[in-house]
Amino acid sequence: MEKRDLLYTGKAKSVYATDDADRVVILYRNDTSAFDGKKVEQLDRKGMVNNKFNAFIMDKLAAAGIATHHEKLLSPTESLVKRLEMIPVECVVRNFAAGSLVRRLGVEEGIALNPPTFELFLKNDALGDPMINEAHAISFGWATAEQLAEMQQQTLKINEILSELFLAGGMLLVDFKLEFGLFKGKVTLGDEFSPDGCRLWDRETRKKLDKDRFRQGLGGVVEAYEEVAQRLGVNLD
Ligand code: UDP
Repeated sequence: MEKRDLLYTGKAKSVYATDDADRVVILYRNDTSAFDGKKVEQLDRKGMVNNKFNAFIMDKLAAAGIATHHEKLLSPTESLVKRLEMIPVECVVRNFAAGSLVRRLGVEEGIALNPPTFELFLKNDALGDPMINEAHAISFGWATAEQLAEMQQQTLKINEILSELFLAGGMLLVDFKLEFGLFKGKVTLGDEFSPDGCRLWDRETRKKLDKDRFRQGLGGVVEAYEEVAQRLGVNLD
C-alpha cells in the first residue's frame, strides 16, 4: 500500500489517497478544535492517543458485528480505512443530559435519559451543525429513509456495546457522535470514536474525561484521554 496525495484536511484529521481506489489513509493530528473551529490548539500526543484509541474501539465494534471503515493501524498517528462516500448527517445518542441538550432545553446536566435519546445534526460548520429531523434529511437528499433507519439501529447498538465497555472501566458514556458513509452501497461506520467526539465521566466522581476539558478550559486534556485509554487497556506504546 502506497500513501499518495492529500485529499482532504479536516479540523483534526487529514485524509490521503492510496494506490487502492477503495482505501484511504487517515492522519490524526494534534490540532484540537471546539465551537465550530473558533477555539483551536495543538495538544501534544493527542493525534497518537486518538488514533490508537479509535483503532481499539473500532476493533471491538467490528468483533460485535458492526460494519466499520477501519482496517489497520499504519503508524502511531495513521490508520488505513475503507474509502466511504460520507453521509453529511451526524448521529448523536445521549444517556445523560449534557452539552447542547442542556443549553437547548434548560434541563439539569447529568439527568439520566431512559431510553437514550437519538438526534440528527447536519454536518455543516458554516451553519454550526444545526439539528435536523429525518424528514429534512430525506427531502434534501442527505440520506434515504432506509439509510437513516440503519444509522439509528447501528448507533443504538454501538451505544449498548460501548456503554458496557466504559462502565467496566468505571466510566459513564454520557453521549457521543457518529458519522456514517457508504462503502459499495452499504451503510458503514466512518470518522472516529475517541474522547474528542464523546463525553465520558468517572462513574463515582463524575470527573470529565473528554473534550469538555478543552471546551471548558479545565486543563489536563490529553492526560484525561490517556487515563481513559489506560482504564480500557488500550496499548499506547
Ligand atoms: N459532538 C462532536 N462533534 C460535533 C458536535 C458534537 O463530536 O460537531 C459530540 C460531543 O463531543 C458530544 C456529543 O456529540 O459528545 C453531543 O454534543 P452536543 O450536541 O451536546 O454539542 P456540544 O455541547 O458539543 O456543542
